[in-house]
Amino acid sequence: MSTTANLTRTAARERSTHLRVSEYLVRLDLSGAPDPARTTFPTTTTVRFTATAPTTFLDFLSEVSSVVVNGRSVVPEHDGSRVLLTGLTADGSENEVTVQGEGLYSRTGEGLHRFTDPVDGATYLYTQYEPADSRRVFATFEQPDLKASFTFEVLAPAAWEVLSNQVPAEVEDLPADGAHPALRRWTFAPSPRMSSYLTAVVAGPYHRVDGHWSAALPDGGTLEVPLGLLCRASLAEHLDAERLLEVTRQGLDFFHEAFAFPYPWGKYDQVFVPEYNLGAMENPGCVTFTESYVFRSAATRAQYQARANTILHEMAHMWFGDLVTPRWWDDLWLKESFADYMGAHASVAATEFTDAWVAFAHRRKAWAYTQDQLPTTHPIVADIPDLEAAKQNFDGITYAKGAAVLKQLVAYVGTEAFFAGVRAYFQQHQWSATTLGDLLAALEGASGRDLAAWSRVWLETAGTPVLTARVTADGDKIASLVVTQEGADPVTGQEVLRPHRLAVGLYAVTDGADGRTGGAATTLRRTHRLEVDVTGGATEVPDARGLALPDLVLVNDDDLTYAKVRLDPASLATAREHLGALTDTLPRSLVWSALWNATRDALLPAADYLDLVLRHGPGETDTAVLAGLTANARTAVEHYLPAAQRPRARGEQADGAWSRLLAAEPGSDVQLVWARALAAAAAVAPAAAPRLREVLAGEVPGLPLGPELRWSLWQSLAAVGDATREELDGELARDATADGATQHLAALVAVPDPEVKAAAWQELLTPGALTNDHVDATLAGFAQPLHRELTAPYTERYFASLRQIWAEHSIEIADRLVRGLYPAHQDAEPGRDPADHPVLRRTADWLEVNPDAPAALRRLVVEARDHLLRALRAQLASG
Ligand SMILES: [Zn+2]
Repeated sequence: MSTTANLTRTAARERSTHLRVSEYLVRLDLSGAPDPARTTFPTTTTVRFTATAPTTFLDFLSEVSSVVVNGRSVVPEHDGSRVLLTGLTADGSENEVTVQGEGLYSRTGEGLHRFTDPVDGATYLYTQYEPADSRRVFATFEQPDLKASFTFEVLAPAAWEVLSNQVPAEVEDLPADGAHPALRRWTFAPSPRMSSYLTAVVAGPYHRVDGHWSAALPDGGTLEVPLGLLCRASLAEHLDAERLLEVTRQGLDFFHEAFAFPYPWGKYDQVFVPEYNLGAMENPGCVTFTESYVFRSAATRAQYQARANTILHEMAHMWFGDLVTPRWWDDLWLKESFADYMGAHASVAATEFTDAWVAFAHRRKAWAYTQDQLPTTHPIVADIPDLEAAKQNFDGITYAKGAAVLKQLVAYVGTEAFFAGVRAYFQQHQWSATTLGDLLAALEGASGRDLAAWSRVWLETAGTPVLTARVTADGDKIASLVVTQEGADPVTGQEVLRPHRLAVGLYAVTDGADGRTGGAATTLRRTHRLEVDVTGGATEVPDARGLALPDLVLVNDDDLTYAKVRLDPASLATAREHLGALTDTLPRSLVWSALWNATRDALLPAADYLDLVLRHGPGETDTAVLAGLTANARTAVEHYLPAAQRPRARGEQADGAWSRLLAAEPGSDVQLVWARALAAAAAVAPAAAPRLREVLAGEVPGLPLGPELRWSLWQSLAAVGDATREELDGELARDATADGATQHLAALVAVPDPEVKAAAWQELLTPGALTNDHVDATLAGFAQPLHRELTAPYTERYFASLRQIWAEHSIEIADRLVRGLYPAHQDAEPGRDPADHPVLRRTADWLEVNPDAPAALRRLVVEARDHLLRALRAQLASG
């Protein structure tokens, strides 16, 4: 790929100063897609625009066959990524440019992805472009601020569904003749002005369910919006359309009211697509989702909640991101943080998932805290000089930290003012592109608050504040309660103390005082909630003075702000003893979160965290929190626990999961979560193998044995060398689906055999050998934590191959390889500085001799080094 493919912010700004694009007509011929021998498709783009300079360029990452500028055929000047345009009229009259070429069907989920369903041989296509892959499919000015109207014309097999952002305006049938089978040409209505990365085409024999939503308009009319749900035909039986449509209508009702701007895109289709690289994408009117949201196996309420959250996140984007779009990727957060916030907010306000902030506190914010402590962290408003940097900015800062900080902003200015500002923002900036300043102006206008200082410390600096309660006693009363704050920006090294509107919860242990006969249940209940504005390094909470000494103090109760919270010694002691007795779910999840952060920071021995999970996890009723705890426990065992303690802990995790599984109510969500935890824990606990076989044999009453659970059991059996090839093939015969094939591959690669590792390594490093999903499956099998000795020989090869990996694979795949193959499972040597660990030294050497490596690649290596350093430090602190 040519280096000009990595479009810079400078070049994009320059281009948009002298262009105004009015419309595109894009013709795609997908009639050959069912033939696997055809690797390309004809694509023709006609774009109309005015220019104030005679020269510019279109982005196009495909073969160019002809270029016509204002009616003149010219010799294409194409370097593989840019089509140079010269001789344009710059007098204000429109230019018309037509570029013809051949696009490549994608197997990496970037551009126009093609997939063949092994169940029925059917071909499915969909596009995925963000941040800059529409140029893989058609010639375009690929930057978000150059909005235009798009008309798509698609030629496809007659029996297919074809979708785009708008409804079809015209459908023409071309009967079969000697040259081709029966075809249909779909011409879609011209779209409103939008960015090219948001355009979409979906084509194939998709199964479709129709629905409808309507709402009253301010002028007394009615807004009618057709709804569509689509998935592969072979998944149709699993598509729970009624449930999906219900959340869809609830969300549209909510946003229609809250944003006071009628849904702007006409129709609303939601398509579940195969081999998808992400959770979902907000293409206006044509949202695409991972098909793992079409549950083939029993799913917990937490999974339904997560899916609803994603549906609402994407729906919020129809306004935040699609109607109003960040000008460049520096302000990506303007749409992602908002959509993330709205996903949870709308879940609570409009759906049955009124506890959505619990999962947000426990899972989503953990992502933010992790990312924000890496040396590569960045302010929410980021510095994104080019597209490779943009690609990596879809991270825990942009989504989760941004959303958490917005939650704090809502607490700071009030919900009413916040939504009033948002409504003004849509009114003022509809169909255009914006920056941070535009949003702040709207929020300041609505709230009357000066947000310049707030924005500077929250949005324009990096790092996580640390809040701790300091309680002094006067007998059995509180003499003073002070909240201390520490914070430094890891990018600049400067101290940053932020303003927090937050709540402090005081909790007391009550012994068996619930009055029930025979019930001597101990509870840990909140006795007081004190709201306070924390500023600076130490803030007293005056209302606490004179209150009874609490057993536990929880700073940031209700999770209004973004901060790591440390428990004071007395509160930690209470948590160890009585965490399971904390009756409310949100504070319980906040205490769990504080304990996990302390473990990661080497302040709490990993063994203590594991002990807490074994003691109090069994009482956890929230399945989102419980699933998070069991996953954290596995991370703690494999990364944060000293090697000497690991074998015993692995056995305890598997034993604990097994006994909880047997004790759980048959058919309950909790039972399912423990079954999954057992399957995962058994991958490093060979002694648990017979239990997995009992589960597979259906000997756990009430446990739904869907393909997802069955495969994870088989994968663990494979990893401990306890599954035969015949057995794995037998499971595939039972689940002869696309997902079954992927899971089967993961199981085969998980077998502890040096030849299998060698073959997997070879496949992974061969460009184009594996699809995106099969890359993940192979990585999971290759990097089994139990196989440290088998994969050790690849450490040197990894470092020797890094630049080649980056150069030869698409960024999506290269990113996964660089992360997934890093030798992350290492043991600290007692008494030795972790920085002297051979793998860390080798990493440092690589960084030292590769200063000129692409910044995006260096970022991944720096992050991997930091994760390992953190792990080794935690091991030493636990030793
Ligand atoms: Zn999003």
